Amino acid sequence: QALLAIENLVVDYGSARALAGVSLSVCKGEFVAVIGPNGAGKSTLLATITGLVKPKSGTIQYEGRRLGAEPPARRVRDGIALVPEGRRILSNLTVEENLRVGETVRRGDPEAARRFEHVLATFPVLRSRLKGYAGRLSGGEQQQLAIARALLSGPKLLLLDEPSLGLAPLMIEQVYETLVKLNEDGLTILLMEQNANRALLAGDRAYVLRHGVVELEGPTATLRTDPAFDQAYF
Ligand code: ADP
Ligand code: ADP
Repeated sequence: QALLAIENLVVDYGSARALAGVSLSVCKGEFVAVIGPNGAGKSTLLATITGLVKPKSGTIQYEGRRLGAEPPARRVRDGIALVPEGRRILSNLTVEENLRVGETVRRGDPEAARRFEHVLATFPVLRSRLKGYAGRLSGGEQQQLAIARALLSGPKLLLLDEPSLGLAPLMIEQVYETLVKLNEDGLTILLMEQNANRALLAGDRAYVLRHGVVELEGPTATLRTDPAFDQAYF
C-alpha cells in the first residue's frame, strides 16, 4: 500500500527544468533512497513533496489523497517531516531549546509530551546533553538532533536530504544505524543521497536520479550488483 505516490512530476525554475517527469512510490514501512549526484533534483523533489515548490505538472498522493495547495504546515500535521540538508540546527541554543522550537505549533496536541519523552529515549546522547549548546555537538550528534526534532511532530513519513553529507565515516554509520532502527520500529523513510554505497546498504529500494530523470530503480540488493548501476550513477 503506497503511503506516497508521485506520478510524472515536472518542476521548472524559470526556463530550467529541474524534474522532468519523475514517478516514484513509497509503501508504508518502506525505506527508500533516491540516489543522485549534485544537481540531480533531489532537493527539488523534497521541496515539492513538502509543498515549498509548486510542480508544473504531475501529482503527489499521500495516504491516497492528492496533495494540492495546502501550506507546508498542513503537510507536517498530516505526518510528513523533513530533515533538511545541512541539519539547520541552532548552534547558539541548547539541545533542549532546539527540540522545543516547534512546540507552539504542537500546543494542544495531547501526544506531544509523550512523544518528547519517547524521542529522548531513542537518542540517549541528546538526553545527556539537553542543557549544552547544540553547536558543541559533533556533526553526527547534530544530525541526530535534526532527526530527533523532525520526529517530534510524530511523522508517518520521514524525509531526509543527504543525511551523510559532511560527516566522518563513523558518524555516517551512527546516523544510518539510527535510521534503520527507526524504520524497524515502523517509520517510513524516504531519503536523498549522493553517498550511493551507504544508501544502497540501508534501504529496501532505491531510485537513481540524474538530470531530473529516474534512470534506474529497484531493490537495493539488486542495484548493488547491477552493472547498469555504476553507469547510471558515475
Ligand atoms: P540536488 O538536490 O540533487 O543537488 P537540486 O534539486 O538542488 O538538485 O537542483 C536541481 C536543478 O535545479 C539544478 O540544476 C539546480 O541548479 C536547479 N535549481 C535548484 N533550485 C533552484 C532555484 N531556486 N532556482 C533555479 N534553479 C534551481
Ligand atoms: P542542493 O544540492 O541541496 O540543492 P545547492 O547548493 O544546490 O544545494 O542549493 C542550495 C539552495 O539554493 C537550495 O535552496 C536550492 O533550491 C537553491 N539553488 C540551487 N541551485 C540554484 C540556482 N541555479 N539558482 C537559484 N537557486 C538555486
